[in-house]
Amino acid sequence: MTTSLSEKPIVNFLRTYLQQLVLLFSDAELTRSALADALRDKFREALYSPTTEIRFLPFLFLSCQAVRGLNMANLTRALSEHLYPAPTFMSTPPPYFDSVLVPIDAGIDAEAVGSGYVFYFEESLLPHDIYYLLAHAYGHLALGHLRKSDVYSHYDVLSELRSAAGPTRRWDQAVQAQQHLWLVPLAPSSTLLPEDIDVEWSIVGFAEAFERLQREDVDDKAQVIQAFASRHGEQLPQVDFEIGRDAQLKNAGRRSWWCAYKSWAWLYWQIQLVWEKPER
Ligand SMILES: [Zn+2]
Repeated sequence: MTTSLSEKPIVNFLRTYLQQLVLLFSDAELTRSALADALRDKFREALYSPTTEIRFLPFLFLSCQAVRGLNMANLTRALSEHLYPAPTFMSTPPPYFDSVLVPIDAGIDAEAVGSGYVFYFEESLLPHDIYYLLAHAYGHLALGHLRKSDVYSHYDVLSELRSAAGPTRRWDQAVQAQQHLWLVPLAPSSTLLPEDIDVEWSIVGFAEAFERLQREDVDDKAQVIQAFASRHGEQLPQVDFEIGRDAQLKNAGRRSWWCAYKSWAWLYWQIQLVWEKPER
């Protein structure tokens, strides 16, 4: 049976806390690596702030880190850089995942305070995806799935969390059922600097769909977005592109790609709104 958090003080705490973090994910001045650094600073600030009530410390992450190509090998490598052991999971994780919560043994790292868990996320994700995973991750702490001194790590995959049928794992279902209680919406403009993004603009049908939306040449905007999402939803999170790193790119071209990126980010945001209706 799932515990209802609706009346619990932790819900108010998480909402207030995420409200502060939202600003980071909406800050267009932050590059992706700077976002991870800023998020880590916020985690630390909350852990050591005298204004944080002691009863809420077990619900705070110790730290966070972005990992390119998040899988077992790269995660293990990232952990080993801090002399942390390889993670263990209750079930075998997929070849790649989007985020993972790893417990750090206080015996290994005396600085392991709060929940003792570190939030690792896939570096190539867009800010609102990272935010979504983070909000989901807090749910695992709030519901007591993950506690200090636990030994198991927990991975999450965005496409699974957002699948029409809902996540298959029981813990994820429990979080999804209640995360509306603390999930503070992000501004749709959440984005990163173009120099630090990898974006594809060649998804079949996207340009046409976006033009129609701009012209408001649609009967039901949500219907179009949904149709687009159902056709291309699997592709969106895995999109990879070299444009942002192309040193030969002309300024005009860069601007054009930046506009394309913003359009892409906007449509993806709209898709999220459709997928994350409260009744689901
Ligand atoms: Zn999860």
